[in-house]
Amino acid sequence: MPNKYARKLAAKLAPDPDAFLTALTEGKSARPAVLWLGGSAESPFASLPPAPWQPEFVQAVAPGERPGRHTLHDEGAYYCLDLSSVFEASALCGLPTGGTVVDVCAAPGGKTVFAHRALTPERLIANEVIGKRLGPLTGNLKRCAVPAETRCADPARLAEEFAGLARVVLVDAPCSGQSLLARGQDNPGAFHPVNINSCANRQKRILAESVRLLAPGGFLLYSTCTYAKEENEDVISWLRVRFPELIAQELPAHEMHRSPHADFPCYRLWPETGFGAGGFLTLLKQP
Ligand code: SAM
Repeated sequence: MPNKYARKLAAKLAPDPDAFLTALTEGKSARPAVLWLGGSAESPFASLPPAPWQPEFVQAVAPGERPGRHTLHDEGAYYCLDLSSVFEASALCGLPTGGTVVDVCAAPGGKTVFAHRALTPERLIANEVIGKRLGPLTGNLKRCAVPAETRCADPARLAEEFAGLARVVLVDAPCSGQSLLARGQDNPGAFHPVNINSCANRQKRILAESVRLLAPGGFLLYSTCTYAKEENEDVISWLRVRFPELIAQELPAHEMHRSPHADFPCYRLWPETGFGAGGFLTLLKQP
């Protein structure tokens, strides 16, 4: 059952607190999707109707489908992800293609694969600071034939190597992972203020280094899979004070998910809306 911290968050932020808490309790909000690396015309899976922000190369699969167990998966025809990850990454659609893209927090690789498919970068860097997570990342990139260079570097070191070079930077930040509950997974302490505060401080450190990667005119996509305002709107408010030149971008396809908890454009997905377990994103542009 959601604890007192989850109930407090629901009362403060959720548009429908009861529906949100029910989604957390039931743990059935995951919505499997497949990101096709080539065309999806040959898909053996039944589909759900697409969301407004869903690109044509993503298919939301109908309940009961098991795309992760199909031979096409092992052949690298697609990458499996939750629809809420698509919600976050689809902010990349419409950005300039080519150039250098750096994924600062890459493992196990979903956003890197998405960036490859949406942006066809000339150079794609997939960084993962935790060594033991590098194996799954490189395995997925290899299976999906994504031509990325991998790194295992702290964001500060990454920023030294690629300072000012990236047309697009992805920070899919480590977070308290509150949306795992909406998928039916255990995550003790996800709503505890001490945990949230420590995640927010780490997110600020990662972002401050990641801004250094941006080329003039470059874009930074920040996303999390958690609901806490302290890790979402408040982190970006902090970043905008520190880097006032960054401009938060309006995303018309995401408008129905616009957060009312910030004075700049940013977007929240709640688990009771049927588009996956939930998350947050904002897209910033360096002039
Ligand atoms: N982008 C990935 C995807 O779509 O598959 C998921 C990324 S996951 C939400 C966050 C990642 O950040 C984890 O792989 C974690 O190991 C990594 N991470 C943890 N601490 C970090 C830090 N201090 N700096 C950068 N990345 C960190």
